[in-house]
Amino acid sequence: MLDWLRNIWLAVATVAHGMYVTLRNWLITYQPERGAFTERFEYPEKPVPVANRYRGFHRYDLTTCISCDQCAKACPVDCIYIGKERVEGGKGFKITGFAIDYSKCMFCALCVEPCPVDCIFMGATHDLSCYSRDGCIVDFSRLPLDVAWGRATLNPTAVSESKVIAEPVHGGPNQ
Ligand code: SF4
Ligand code: SF4
Repeated sequence: MLDWLRNIWLAVATVAHGMYVTLRNWLITYQPERGAFTERFEYPEKPVPVANRYRGFHRYDLTTCISCDQCAKACPVDCIYIGKERVEGGKGFKITGFAIDYSKCMFCALCVEPCPVDCIFMGATHDLSCYSRDGCIVDFSRLPLDVAWGRATLNPTAVSESKVIAEPVHGGPNQ
């Protein structure tokens, strides 16, 4: 009987302590002039703003890239995969794929510096959640140009739609 009462008391005291911690933190973080955090930032329509030099998911311009491999060579974790084939009867290469594996990328921006045509930058998007590891591999050549270049949001829906696109959306600077 005593054990039963002790267990009930322990359960009630534990829940009460948890509620006390939650209430105390809510009061500490609540600022009347600011309002609740969710009043200012209504994710995903109004995301939290990031600093200008924030390193989020990349912005990549397929129409300018010359597939020189400089970014892939500079990447310390080898997570940039570039597919290319020679342009028949012409100069240079046609891009067949430009994928970045975000399960490996550490957002160091070392791939941005060596690009001779400034077609890859760190973007401001930070919320590419996905259900499988495959969703972490983004082939920018299969994304709509606006999404790849960061004018629209790089989002899980765009990435999953790009998985069923067989050909690059643009042939690169040679087309
Ligand atoms: S940010 Fe760093 S780790 Fe990510 S792709 Fe570029 S070089 Fe590689
Ligand atoms: S993104 Fe820049 S560095 Fe990378 S392959 Fe294209 S042109 Fe070369």
